[in-house]
Amino acid sequence: MRSPVQQYLEAIVEQCAGTDGEVAGYIPELAAADPDQFALALATVDGHVYEVGDIGARYSIQSISKPFTYALALADQGRKAVAEKVDVEPSGEAFNEISLASGTGRPRNPMINAGAITTASLVAGADAEERFRRVRAWYSDFAGRELGFDEAVYASELATAHRNRAIAHLLREFGILRGDPEPTLDQYIRQCSVAVDTRDLALMAATLANGGVQPRSGRRVLPATDVEQVLSVMATCGMYDAAGDWLSTVGMPAKSGVSGGIIAILPGQAGLAVFSPRLDAHGNSARGVAVCERMSRDMEMHLMHVG
Ligand code: GLN
Repeated sequence: MRSPVQQYLEAIVEQCAGTDGEVAGYIPELAAADPDQFALALATVDGHVYEVGDIGARYSIQSISKPFTYALALADQGRKAVAEKVDVEPSGEAFNEISLASGTGRPRNPMINAGAITTASLVAGADAEERFRRVRAWYSDFAGRELGFDEAVYASELATAHRNRAIAHLLREFGILRGDPEPTLDQYIRQCSVAVDTRDLALMAATLANGGVQPRSGRRVLPATDVEQVLSVMATCGMYDAAGDWLSTVGMPAKSGVSGGIIAILPGQAGLAVFSPRLDAHGNSARGVAVCERMSRDMEMHLMHVG
């Protein structure tokens, strides 16, 4: 007998399957994704995971990596040192906007590419290779299993990364990045190519919901004070130029990625992950947004909900 929660989630997926959008085309390998894949997972802070749809589908994490690398930079360097290099102001702009403060070159926030390339450079390690090893192990701790790597997406993005390369060099020009920016760019593209499924993402989200303790392993991954900082930045900047609309309609800290994933966090309760490669005009999963709006309304998940 399927639980009422399971039945509810299955109904939501069925109802949102009609929402349309376009698969990301600027990374050639992503354009090859099956546009009709659709998966939803809800992980509670006590470690139960509800799953619906194409739950076995694997894809590159893309920008959902950004809050987790930001978290690692915070854990490694402390809030003050990170804030000197990256601000926490919503940019109101697209994810790949060259959004740097005039004068200092400091990126507006760690959720846009400029800020994420910067936080990648703030991870501790002797070189970009070691930093990436730590990043992947760190994401794996949140997911509760060792995450893979999508070589094809990595190669495809590296070959076409003209815009991110320009951003990295501009950051170097402003002294936000030091030394050769190329290894940091490579490290950033690698982090975007870590392979996940929707269950992994739900558990990564649930670890944040659970104050930094992975619900299944019971391991503390991140100090609670850093969780608060990461969730705050996700709430204001996680959905790019749709962040304000998202916060008023869904009301949860969240992060999207161009491969079609979205995570949303209900602090103290659950992590939610949706995957559908069809994107809206902001580069957010169209069905993912529809699912989160529905669930927020039906289950009163909006953090500002007052009855
Ligand atoms: N790797 C992608 C990029 O840098 C990530 C963007 C995203 O997921 N929004 O362009």
